[in-house]
Amino acid sequence: MLRRILYFIWVTIISFLIAYGVKSGNFAAFLDSIENRTFDIKQRVLVKSGLRNPNKDIVIVAIDDASYEYILDNYGEWPLRRDIYAKIVDYIEQQHPKSIAFDLMFVKSIKSEKSADNKLSALFKKYDNVYTAMNLDDQPIDLRFPPVLPENLQISVNDTYNQTYDYLEYSNCRTILEDILDSTSNIGMVNVSRADDGVLRKMPLFLKYKYSFYPQLGLLVGLDYLGLRNNMRFTVLKDGRIKLDKTNKMFHAQYDGGVYLNWYGPAGTFKNIPIYKLLKVIDGKEQADIDFKGKVVYFGATAASLFDIKTVPVDKVYPGVEVQATYVNNIIDDSLIQPVPEYVNLIFAILLAIITIFFVIRMPSIFVAIGSSLTMYTLYIIFTYGMMSGMWGGYYWVKIVYPLTLAFFAFIATVVIKYLTISKDFDRQYQLATTDGLTELYNHRYFQEQMQMAVENARRYNADFSLIIIDIDFFKNFNDNYGHQAGDAVLRQVASTLKANVRITDIVCRYGGEEMSIILPNTPYDIAVSIANKLCRIVAEMPFDLNNGKEGRVTISLGVSAFGEQDGKTPEELVSAADARLYNAKNNGRNRVN
Ligand code: GH3
Ligand code: MG
Ligand code: MG
Repeated sequence: MLRRILYFIWVTIISFLIAYGVKSGNFAAFLDSIENRTFDIKQRVLVKSGLRNPNKDIVIVAIDDASYEYILDNYGEWPLRRDIYAKIVDYIEQQHPKSIAFDLMFVKSIKSEKSADNKLSALFKKYDNVYTAMNLDDQPIDLRFPPVLPENLQISVNDTYNQTYDYLEYSNCRTILEDILDSTSNIGMVNVSRADDGVLRKMPLFLKYKYSFYPQLGLLVGLDYLGLRNNMRFTVLKDGRIKLDKTNKMFHAQYDGGVYLNWYGPAGTFKNIPIYKLLKVIDGKEQADIDFKGKVVYFGATAASLFDIKTVPVDKVYPGVEVQATYVNNIIDDSLIQPVPEYVNLIFAILLAIITIFFVIRMPSIFVAIGSSLTMYTLYIIFTYGMMSGMWGGYYWVKIVYPLTLAFFAFIATVVIKYLTISKDFDRQYQLATTDGLTELYNHRYFQEQMQMAVENARRYNADFSLIIIDIDFFKNFNDNYGHQAGDAVLRQVASTLKANVRITDIVCRYGGEEMSIILPNTPYDIAVSIANKLCRIVAEMPFDLNNGKEGRVTISLGVSAFGEQDGKTPEELVSAADARLYNAKNNGRNRVN
């Protein structure tokens, strides 16, 4: 039991060391990149599960490929004249939409069409629910002098914990028509933050330009929908989360200020109306059949030729305007993904590792251990899907790759340790089963086995082999005179003396009591006799340490037999022949060979 506990502690320590190793350095970055892939797969599966339904109030007016052609055919130019947008907005406003947002940037016209532009700017004065986009960038100053943005676009971010928002910092920007900048504060940034692999998973809530913060377009539109548009003061919390002041609205942002989007489906998931249909209605060519009441109407390009295309977890080709729609939807539903804190992932990792170790140690076979572990990992992966599905009250991202990697290492480490200790155990068991505890010679059972082997070997290869049986003389007297302990000491020393003076291939055994035997493979009778004589002399001349400060002397008698016609060809015959000669040696005066 104690050994089991020691095992367990040992394996746990190793797992912790591995856990630490796995968590640091390049390997961690590598694991994170795979984790991102599992995130994408989870999102795709959950989207297909039908659990995620886009908000019906979000409608996209799409400049798709068909609309692009229609505009070229009917208006002769691209981009569409601004007064046409003004007409469309006026048309939609009659139906009282919640808001209208342009994921389009109204930069200075190439052809100066001041009157058309003015009609558009006038709209922003007229309707306070119309939003438009701007883009921050890092163009060098000598190319474009950084403009000063109006103060009414800024938002207040109370960053008590001084998170570094370098990621969000931009040094230049593409401004839009000055008249629009002067008319409204409903202008949001449309910058996105892509991961290293180019996939867009996160969106910032706000961006930093010249020491001030500016909101994301989607954030403005989302908060407008929730009636929170007029309070744009945020507080950054210690764990990276961002709170909208005076409300319960909490964003589960990362330290880089980004929030993970929760996707609703591939491109085309939100209700999509091609802009040409609206143009046809406005041009009087078609009857209106679209209801915009209470809707969030997002204008944006979905035509691949207009280049506003991103790669997102659920689709390779996903229009920017649909990213905006997803973002707004997430803010409305409070369904942004919350990665669980790292220590939670670590706890899951350690739990998986410990259960894996338990399986490997306790299960009867390695295959059962593998089966049980794989089942547990599968359940764990399903659990992480559940966590992200929203069915347990939130949209949590529990890591898969790091915990499973740790569990895998724990598996390997435990298997290696287990089988190393098992083979050590086996060696030890074998030794216990074949040797005698007092003399450390081979025991009687081993002697029997080896005799059998030696006999068969001699038969098959027509080889020689001899047997010597040894008995200590007057050992009973010795015990009586010096005590049993001294007797044991002598017995041990006789044994080691015998072992030290024969070949390594000779097998020295304790036959029983104070009798010993030596199997001498490939040794004919006369050589065995001379070896026996040598042993007899060495023992007779040797002073033995009695373990009580005194010395004592003993002699031995030896009987020799050899495989062959005369002495026999079975273990029994050979033993009785040697025994008989030993008996003779005793009768002839002891301390001799016969
Ligand atoms: P001999 O062989 O010369 O005829 O006389 P002996 O006194 O040695 O007679 P025998 O071989 O029959 O006696 C065996 C004695 O060896 C009995 C016992 O006192 C002693 N003996 C046997 N095994 C052990 C042991 O493990 N330790 C000790 N100390 N003595 C043992
Ligand atoms: Mg004896
Ligand atoms: Mg004896």
